[in-house]
Amino acid sequence: MKKITFVLFILFAIVNLNVFAQSGKKIKKVSTTIDSVKWRAEHYVINRDSAYADPRIAIKKLMGGNKRFVEGISIRPRQDAQTIKKLENGQQPFATIVGCSDSRVPNEMIFDQGLGDLFIVRTAGQVSAAASYGSMEFATLKLNTKLIVVLGHTDCGAVAAAVQRPENVPGHIVTLINEIKPAVAKSAHLPGDPINNAVRQNVIDQVANLRDLEPILHKKYVDGEILIVGAVYDIHTGKVEFLQETLLNLPQKKPK
Ligand SMILES: [Zn+2]
Repeated sequence: MKKITFVLFILFAIVNLNVFAQSGKKIKKVSTTIDSVKWRAEHYVINRDSAYADPRIAIKKLMGGNKRFVEGISIRPRQDAQTIKKLENGQQPFATIVGCSDSRVPNEMIFDQGLGDLFIVRTAGQVSAAASYGSMEFATLKLNTKLIVVLGHTDCGAVAAAVQRPENVPGHIVTLINEIKPAVAKSAHLPGDPINNAVRQNVIDQVANLRDLEPILHKKYVDGEILIVGAVYDIHTGKVEFLQETLLNLPQKKPK
């Protein structure tokens, strides 16, 4: 009887070892495929460290992530327990996003990024004031984040309110509208949708404003140490368009 039990135990152990070996093989095979050069190219994956070191590469990384999102092949990177552990002692976000609070524009999702990737400042119409500026300066100076993206979106409610100019605006909402009004006036002559024209102009104005912002961002920008660019998210397609007007004549980093 004892002998039979022993034989059964050995058989059981062999079967189990085999299963372990098989599953080990499978896991290895899958991870090789995921990390392959072909897979990375097909998913527009750009190295995270390179994006952190160079804002031009950071723009490409955001574009690649948005392409995945639009094509329905998001990889949801760095959202696991291992990443939580890795980041417990600090962060190195490769981009600061200055975006609208709109619930339809969740930044990590639309750019398909993960924990520790994006430093985000969000207010309605991405209207900025002292606390927002301080947040951007903190990311630039303390976290060494070299890219700032002002991200507007089509059909923005805050911009629509500035276009419609309602009377007796309650509470602090008037602050948002007043800040967006100049962009509405500047774009009023343009053909097409007045709200989306104002959305673009608002982003362009906000980019210019941040590039001039003393004492930190302006100097870093003209020295070519950081880039400040603008983009618009299309709520119909999920696509982010980086605005050409904000990508021209970017300062180059001065050699030391
Ligand atoms: Zn909005």
